[in-house]
Amino acid sequence: MNRKQKKMLVRIVLAAAMVICLGLLPVQGLLRLALYLTTYLVIGYDILRKAGRGILNRQVFDENFLMAVATVGAFALAIYTRSGDYTEAIAVMLFYQIGELFQSYAVGKSRKNISALMDIRPDYANVERNGKLEQVDPDEVSIGSMIVVQPGEKVPLDGEVIEGSSTLNTSALTGESLPREIQAGEAVISGCINMTGVLKIRTTKEFGESTVSKILDLVENASSRKSKSEDFISKFARIYTPAVCYAALALAILPPLGQLLLLGAAPAWGTWLYRALTFLVISCPCALVISIPLSFFAGLGGASKEGVLIKGSNYLETLSQARYVVFDKTGTLTRGVFEVNAVHHNKMSQEQLLEYAALAESASSHPISKSLQRAYGQEIDRSRVTDIQEISGNGVTAKVDGISVAAGNDKLMRRLGIEPIPCHHVGTIIHMAVDGAYAGHIVISDVVKEHSKEAIQELKRAGVKQTVMLTGDATRVAEAVASDLCVDRVFSELLPADKVSKVEELLEGKGEKEKLAFVGDGINDAPVLSRADIGIAMGAMGSDAAIEAADVVLMDDDPLKIAKAIKISRKCIRIVYQNIAFALTVKFACMALGAVGIANMWLAIFADVGVMILAILNAIRALFVRRL
Ligand code: ADP
Ligand code: MG
Repeated sequence: MNRKQKKMLVRIVLAAAMVICLGLLPVQGLLRLALYLTTYLVIGYDILRKAGRGILNRQVFDENFLMAVATVGAFALAIYTRSGDYTEAIAVMLFYQIGELFQSYAVGKSRKNISALMDIRPDYANVERNGKLEQVDPDEVSIGSMIVVQPGEKVPLDGEVIEGSSTLNTSALTGESLPREIQAGEAVISGCINMTGVLKIRTTKEFGESTVSKILDLVENASSRKSKSEDFISKFARIYTPAVCYAALALAILPPLGQLLLLGAAPAWGTWLYRALTFLVISCPCALVISIPLSFFAGLGGASKEGVLIKGSNYLETLSQARYVVFDKTGTLTRGVFEVNAVHHNKMSQEQLLEYAALAESASSHPISKSLQRAYGQEIDRSRVTDIQEISGNGVTAKVDGISVAAGNDKLMRRLGIEPIPCHHVGTIIHMAVDGAYAGHIVISDVVKEHSKEAIQELKRAGVKQTVMLTGDATRVAEAVASDLCVDRVFSELLPADKVSKVEELLEGKGEKEKLAFVGDGINDAPVLSRADIGIAMGAMGSDAAIEAADVVLMDDDPLKIAKAIKISRKCIRIVYQNIAFALTVKFACMALGAVGIANMWLAIFADVGVMILAILNAIRALFVRRL
């Protein structure tokens, strides 16, 4: 509990004790009024002040106003009828404050839980300078610095391990509890915890561009993007609160006036005023106003705990309606780590062909390029390469030692006016042209990710109507992967622009309430990510552009998390609707009872605070998503 909450608790206990004592003391008349009034002010002065400020700012109708009018009215009524029963007004305020305290505690607690889960911000980095270690702010470490991460420390910046090996705990980032082994030469992302060995890392990104900063930005901004239901609730409250105030006013005035004018009877002003005040207490919309944003917040938190970053409540809503899931192949369903299976060459040696390929590809970030460089296995002298051009969905052209080299698929060869020699191997074929003549091809193949097949099945089980795979790769490879994974439809040999038009075609053919999700790694598919109803990107492997363009980021690149994200979003939305339905039903029932005089103020306050507490407890359920 923070200080403000403790102060509130003291006021609640004090006011409760005072009410009990006063009930036992036989004081009467003005002294009685003064003592009760003091108690009322102890518990309610801040509400009165907020209501007053609201009136001054011309934003009259809010919960504070409702509570202030209802309790001041009840007090005035007790004075007017000389009943001396001031307890009701105080009780309303007391329980309202208990509800408020509970709410601020619950909200604070879940916020804290989420930020603890997201406790990945490193406090310092150990930089090696002149053989000595210095602790500096991660913000001040420039790209290419050598940092040392000791066991137990967080990796502060993204980089590459130069020396040492260790196991990393990535659970805060990916929700994956299995530790990950890491060795020299491998890339590490910031936010992991180094568990066993000392690692020497050369940083490859500044702090602001590192994974931790990106994630923290996402999480901090997520709850500011409002969903439709949240918008609905704030609009609803703007109309609802004044409406119930006028309804209460009408209830206080019209029936007694009717009694007087139509029936000629003595008007029962007191009774109807009391009913109107009860009506006001019941109508307080706080259960909705609080529990709905809290549900979304908890949903976003629960998802990030599982390694799924959702950039806003609105996306949570869209995700829950996903009926079509479209995948990119390379890097999304497959690992994007190609192995060289065969090299067919006619003019030069196998080594030389690979060398040309690796050099020409030296500037590309495509998984194919990375794999060719790995297969070549030697240091690349970039000064030998000039005029590099990457033609997405085709391949690359460059000049190596002044000789023109092209590496890519048959589309690229035809573009260059060179007839490729077909290959009977099944795999992705990288044709090579050197100095304007065909020079052979390299057959590479990729393996599907461990969970890809299960991921497709899970999506079906979660009610997804159709799964589609789009790829720029050759038809033979694409069909083999698609039938292996049981994807419903497959489209191959697509250029990046074709992928956009395919997605647009699919978007046209579906219903309004059915949403389409596109999952990709962002290499050649960032435009599709933003075109789909919801874009899901691979966070670890994906490019920065993809993470930027996507609405949802999977931290550990596991396609199985897509079904999980959909289930998380469904649970969250279900909770939101439950709360709306529950709160409104109880409210309207009690309001009706209040209007006809069956409900008194005690019932009113229990209905109000009780509904709020139940709604908040229900909202917090959205945080628990492990077992979905
Ligand atoms: P995917 O849709 O499977 O992610 P891309 O659209 O990235 O595939 O690429 C489609 C095809 O274009 C690849 O299968 C490959 O034949 C060719 N290609 C793309 N980039 C390169 C590159 N850097 N080097 C060689 N070939 C490439
Ligand atoms: Mg791709």
